[in-house]
Amino acid sequence: MKVIELKNIKKTYRLERFNISVLHGINLEIMQGEFVIIMGPSGSGKSTLLNMLGLLDKPTEGSYKLAGVEILKYSDDELASLRNQYLGFIFQQFNLLPKLTILENVALPTIYLDAKDEKYHEDPLKLLNIMGLSERIHHKPSKISGGQQQKVAIARSLVNNPLIIFADEPTGNLDTKSTMEIIKILKDLNNSGITIVMVTHEPELAVYATRMIKVQDGLIISDEYVMKKYSTIEEELVTVFKRKSFSLSRLKNYFIQAWKSLVGNKTRSILSILGIMIGVASLIIMLAVGTGAKRSVEERVSSLGSNLLIVKSGLAQKSGISSEKDYFLRLKNEDVDDLRENVMGIKFISGYSFGRVQVVANGNNYNTIIEGVSPDYAKLRDSYPSIGRFFSEEEDIEKKKVVLLGEVVIKEIYGDRKFNPIGEYIKINRVDFQVIGILPAKGMEGSYDEDDKVIIPLNTALRRVLATNVLNHIDVQVKDGENMNAVSESIIKRLLFTHRMSPMKTDAVRVINMVEIQKIMSSVARTFSLLLCSIAFISLFVGGIGIMNIMFVSVSERTKEIGLRKAVGANNSDILFQFMIESVFVCCTGGIIGILFGSSVLIIVKFVGWDVITTPFSVILAFCFSGFTGFVFGVWPARKASRLNPIEALRYD
Ligand code: ADP
Ligand code: MG
Repeated sequence: MKVIELKNIKKTYRLERFNISVLHGINLEIMQGEFVIIMGPSGSGKSTLLNMLGLLDKPTEGSYKLAGVEILKYSDDELASLRNQYLGFIFQQFNLLPKLTILENVALPTIYLDAKDEKYHEDPLKLLNIMGLSERIHHKPSKISGGQQQKVAIARSLVNNPLIIFADEPTGNLDTKSTMEIIKILKDLNNSGITIVMVTHEPELAVYATRMIKVQDGLIISDEYVMKKYSTIEEELVTVFKRKSFSLSRLKNYFIQAWKSLVGNKTRSILSILGIMIGVASLIIMLAVGTGAKRSVEERVSSLGSNLLIVKSGLAQKSGISSEKDYFLRLKNEDVDDLRENVMGIKFISGYSFGRVQVVANGNNYNTIIEGVSPDYAKLRDSYPSIGRFFSEEEDIEKKKVVLLGEVVIKEIYGDRKFNPIGEYIKINRVDFQVIGILPAKGMEGSYDEDDKVIIPLNTALRRVLATNVLNHIDVQVKDGENMNAVSESIIKRLLFTHRMSPMKTDAVRVINMVEIQKIMSSVARTFSLLLCSIAFISLFVGGIGIMNIMFVSVSERTKEIGLRKAVGANNSDILFQFMIESVFVCCTGGIIGILFGSSVLIIVKFVGWDVITTPFSVILAFCFSGFTGFVFGVWPARKASRLNPIEALRYD
C-alpha cells in the first residue's frame, strides 16, 4: 500500500515582507513497511519536508495523500487527531516534558485519544520494559542519559501503535554507542511492520534503511533503494471525525497538568493565589460590613417604633443676634395633654425629660441616666417591661415614686443582671422609689448603652428629681394611615397657638419625621455598602490582571511543551482547557483561602463588637466571582496558547 503520496509539493515561508521558498516541487511515494532515510545539507528543507509528512505543517501547494486520503482539506483539529492516532514522532532534542515522569511522558499521547480509541494504544509500561527502562519509570527525564531519553521518546512514539514514525535526526545529539542502540530499535520496529521516515546526517546509518533519499535546495536529487521491501497489509485511516467526546480521564488529566504546573512554579503560584485571596477576602469582609451596617441601621430605626414624630424646640440660634426669646419655644408637660386632645391623628404621645442621677440601694451607689416619660411611652416605643409592669396614668398624675430599672443598673446595684428587684426600694437623689418593673434589654446603640438607665413617671421626674418644668422633647406616634406631614404641621400650628407665638415662626418648633430619617439612613447604608463592594471588586480585578500576566508568562515559558503536546495529538481545545483550568484553579484556590481568611477576620471583628453579617450568599458570591475571574482573565492567554502553530512552538527557545 502507498502510505505516502506527494505530488508537486511546494512550501514557501512568509517572513515579514519576504517569501522564502523552501520546497520547490517534491514528488515522492513511500510504501508501507519501508525504512526511508532522508539526507542532505543543512537548510536544504529536510525538516520542512518531514514536518509536512508528519502533518505538523501544511504545504503551500501540491497534493498529499496519507494512506490514500487527501489530507490537505482537513482542519487543524482533524490533523491533530490523525497525528494522534496514526503517527509517531522522534526529535533530535528528545522533547520530553521535564516536569512529568518518564512513565507520564510515554503515556502523554494517550491523554488526547478519544475514549473509544483506547483499545488501540500500547501499554506504556510494556514499552518501557522493552526499552530496558522499567526501573526508571518514576524518575524525571533529566535523571537519565541522552540515549535513555531518546528511548523514552521512542516508547512515546509507539504508544498509539503508529502506522508511520517520523524521526528528525534522532541520533544527532547522541554518542556512537547510543546511536547504534537507537538505530537497532528503529530497525526492529521496521521489521515488525512500522514505516519509518528518518532524517539523518550520518551516511553510515544508510545500511539499516531500505531506501535513501537525498535532498538539496528543496528538491529530491537522488532516490535509491538499498533493499526492496514493503508489506502488503492494507490499512484504512478512519478519517471521519467527530468532536472528541467528553472523557473523565482527560478532565482529570487537565487538573493534574494544572496542579503540576502550579507546584512546579511555587513562588509564582503563591503570589497569584495571594492576589486573588486578598480580593476575595476583601469582598467577603466588605459585604459583611455593608450588610451589618444596613442591619444595624434598620434595627435602630425599628427600635424607635413606627410612624414616629419627635417634637423639639426650634434652634434658638437660628434667629441670630435678634430676639432669640421670640423664637424659643419651651415644651411643657401641659403641651402633651393639649396635643393629645387637639391634634387629629395622634395614636400615642409621651413627654420626655432626662437627667443624670445618683442611685443608691443595697449599699451600692451608681450614677446613671433617669428618664421621665408619660404612661403611653411603653406602647409608643414598644418597650414593655420584661418583668413587672409599667406605671399607670394615676401614678403619673399623683407623682408616685415608682421606678423601672435597666439591666445594667440592676447589675451595678445588686451585682447580678438577673436579680429580680421588684418591690425593693432604691434611693434616687436621696428620695425613696419602689421598683415596679425591669426594662426590656435593648443592648448598645452606638456608644450608648440603652440598658443603662432608669425610667420614672414624667410628673414625678419634673417635680421631685429634675426640678424643671421643661421637656426635652415630645414623642408622637401617628395613627396608621394618617399623613405624617399633615400631623406634624398640625402639631406645629397648635404649639405656636398655645404658646401665643406668630403662626409664621414655624421654625420655633422642629418636628422630626423618623420615617424620613429611616429612609435617609437606609440609603446612606446602601451607598456605603455599594462603595465597599466596588472597592472589593477593584481589588479582585487587580488580582485577575495579575493572574493574566502570570498566565502569559507561563504560556511563553511553556511554548515548547505546547508544541509537543500538539505534535502528539492535542488539539486547540485541549490546550485551551489545560490553561483555562489552570487559571480557574488558581483563582478558586485563592477564593477558598480568601473566604477562610476573610471569615476569620470577620470573627475577630465581631468579637471586638462590630456589627458584621456573613451570609452564605456572600460566600457563594465571592467563590463564584473568584472562579469567574480565573475564567475571564485566563481566556486570553489560554487562547494564545491554543493557537500556537506546533512547528513554531517546537522550534521556540
Ligand atoms: P534542514 O532541516 O534541511 O536543515 P529546514 O527544513 O529546517 O532545513 O529549513 C529549510 C529552510 O527553511 C531554512 O533556510 C530555514 O531557515 C527555512 N525555514 C524553516 N522553517 C522556517 C520558518 N518557520 N519560517 C521561515 N523560514 C523557515
Ligand atoms: Mg533540520
